[in-house]
Amino acid sequence: MTGPHRPAWAEISRGALKRNLRRLVNRARPAQILPVIKANAYGHGLAAVGRLLQAEGVFSVAVALVREGVALRFEGFRGRILLIEPLLPRDVPEAMKHRLTPQVSSLEEARRLNTTARRAGLTRFKVQVEVDTGMGRVGFRPEDLLRDYPRLVRLPNLGVEAFYTHLATADWSDGAYAKKQIALFHALRDKLAPHSPADLPAPLWHLANSAALLGKIPGTQGDWMRPGLALYGVAPNPRLGHALGLEPVMTLKASILQVKRIAKGDSVGYNRTFIAKRPMKIAVLSAGYADGVHRSLSNKGSCLVRGRKVPLVGTICMDMCMADVTRVPNVKAGDVAVLFGKSGRASLPVEEQALAAGTIPYELLCAVGERVERVYV
Ligand SMILES: *Cc1c(COP(=O)(O)O)cnc(C)c1O
Repeated sequence: MTGPHRPAWAEISRGALKRNLRRLVNRARPAQILPVIKANAYGHGLAAVGRLLQAEGVFSVAVALVREGVALRFEGFRGRILLIEPLLPRDVPEAMKHRLTPQVSSLEEARRLNTTARRAGLTRFKVQVEVDTGMGRVGFRPEDLLRDYPRLVRLPNLGVEAFYTHLATADWSDGAYAKKQIALFHALRDKLAPHSPADLPAPLWHLANSAALLGKIPGTQGDWMRPGLALYGVAPNPRLGHALGLEPVMTLKASILQVKRIAKGDSVGYNRTFIAKRPMKIAVLSAGYADGVHRSLSNKGSCLVRGRKVPLVGTICMDMCMADVTRVPNVKAGDVAVLFGKSGRASLPVEEQALAAGTIPYELLCAVGERVERVYV
């Protein structure tokens, strides 16, 4: 059986997504959850995931782009949409029009937002302040924030709703560094607290990513927690995932287009990177790097065919890839292969495929191409 419209498709389990959400909500309590659904909800489909989250009572989400926030509004998402990437000046009016919540990383940005808010007749337009405590990406440097915060809070048309920071060690590979970031963040909050306007609620705070939430890292609970990867049932670090029993949400499937026998010495695919050492049976799959099967999986990755894990052989093409099915009986064109996820009782975790590709599961999930239809089950 093949997918409905295209020979490669991604099955998204709504049930798994809901159950993961429940697990994370319970884990985070009393903090609220602010799921990160940037990059098309890590490839799972922004619109469908946004609708599901809203139906499950989630009020706040985070995305990177104004375009993503606007798409969510068109889907009817009414809650808070935090933009975790700084706004380009030309996007400010659009963000305000759709009541998206920008992060601010500099006084200059805050002033620009203030001006646009004033022109739009908005008072206390809500923003969140990001602090760079060690990620080395966006956000105020701590010393800059200490200097600029008193001026920032006096901008009459803005209201600082929250402070947040982002941990550099998403996979919890360096706990000591994360602890330093966490301590620095709290020290800053303490120093800034007296400067917050008395007539506004005290700013809220958040800093947890999936790893911090799963690992219950002290000092990360905050008012919100911002899991991304964990929501999709994938652990940034296998040790952290299993504790909560998260379930993978996505299974990437492709149809087998042809099965052929090749002789010893024959090659498979571009540049002849695979030469058969003996007679073999090769299956051609209808997914390639344009669908999210990384080219770095050439001769390294695997797939599931008829419940068995078999190696990908030859160079991954744009639309197709090939697998060695010599040992799998009865394979025929029209069968379904799984590039990651589940196939009956067999499973090929995206974490494992990512390791073979020399990358992280995040990248394999969001690499799943636009032309791969998402089928919600
Ligand atoms: C992507 C991102 C997250 C989510 O990280 P995960 O490791 O997927 O949980 C949280 N916060 C910010 C600022 C991010 O960019």
